[in-house]
Amino acid sequence: MAGSRLLVRARTPGGVAECPGCGAGSARVHGVHERRLADLPFDGRSVIVRVRVRRLYCPTQGCQRTFREQVPGVLERYQRRTTRLTGHVRAAVRELAGRAAARMLGRWSVRLSRQTAVRVLLGIPLQTQEVPRVLSVDDFALLRRHRYGTVLIDGATHQRVDVLPDRRSGTLETWLWVHPGVEFVVRDGSATYAEAIRRGAPTALQVADCWHLWHNLVRAAEKVVAAHARRWAAAGPKRRQLTRETTTLAHWHAVHDLLDHGVGLMDCARRLGLGLNTVKRYSRVSEPEKLRRPPQYRASLVDPYRDHLRIRRATEPGVAVTTLLAEITALGYTGSLNLLHKYPNQGRAESARVMPSPADSPPGSPPAPANWASSGTLI
Ligand SMILES: [Zn+2]
Repeated sequence: MAGSRLLVRARTPGGVAECPGCGAGSARVHGVHERRLADLPFDGRSVIVRVRVRRLYCPTQGCQRTFREQVPGVLERYQRRTTRLTGHVRAAVRELAGRAAARMLGRWSVRLSRQTAVRVLLGIPLQTQEVPRVLSVDDFALLRRHRYGTVLIDGATHQRVDVLPDRRSGTLETWLWVHPGVEFVVRDGSATYAEAIRRGAPTALQVADCWHLWHNLVRAAEKVVAAHARRWAAAGPKRRQLTRETTTLAHWHAVHDLLDHGVGLMDCARRLGLGLNTVKRYSRVSEPEKLRRPPQYRASLVDPYRDHLRIRRATEPGVAVTTLLAEITALGYTGSLNLLHKYPNQGRAESARVMPSPADSPPGSPPAPANWASSGTLI
């Protein structure tokens, strides 16, 4: 015993061992050496087993090799862990994968790196599954828009049956030929899979899967909505836009209501979900109008056409931006579609005030006076 480790010395029982080359038994010792393996931890300490194993000589004519004896079920070939420890490690990595499994096992005195944990996970042999009655087929992205694979799921147990390297018809067809017995195949709307199933499992009934049915229905509904968007914008009630101004007003009133009821600044901020400094600023201002601040818009190429835009949007609420672009371009607009897109989103098309463009005012002249009280926005 040394510190946090237990050291166990062991040796193989001796007797005849089977040659891996020809299968003949042999007990002729060629040499002895030691294998060092980790075993299940004991009493919170890791256990190291040093096993003396024999290297035997095969006497068969033509084989005559030397081989190391194995202890099946206890020590596996090339392994640094006993079979039972490997079983525990596999169970952990199957649930937790690399990093988490390595941390968890470390708490149980089984030390391994996350890379080793991943290697153990990849080394777990896949179970040979029976061919399911109901097979679900779908593609998935290995590298979006470039490489796709096909995953096969048992429709009854929802367990993965197999993964195919691509989503080509021939690959699935071959799989179905090699694994006969599928009675129902659930698939998306893909004609490629339909063809593969028709050829690979001609007697199987093809069923559209629920997710894709809903997905396609939603897509179709969205298309219809988008196609009639202009009419709906004109017909529906005018949407009340939640501007920064209304939000600020609401916050100012909420802050002052709470303060009037004797709530502290800190508590106020917590209840309203605002920053403490914001609450302090609102508390200092006695009237909401004092929070008004001039809008900080830079001059835009769209400014000269603001009135036109406002009128057009009022008379035809759902008018397309591209239509507006064509109209103001005819009037002399030289900016981009993107700029025009952003303009109404910033609330500028409705704002009554336009920032004077630097080009409009002669150099050295003072900034144009503006009536903030009527046209500013609240901060
Ligand atoms: Zn042999």
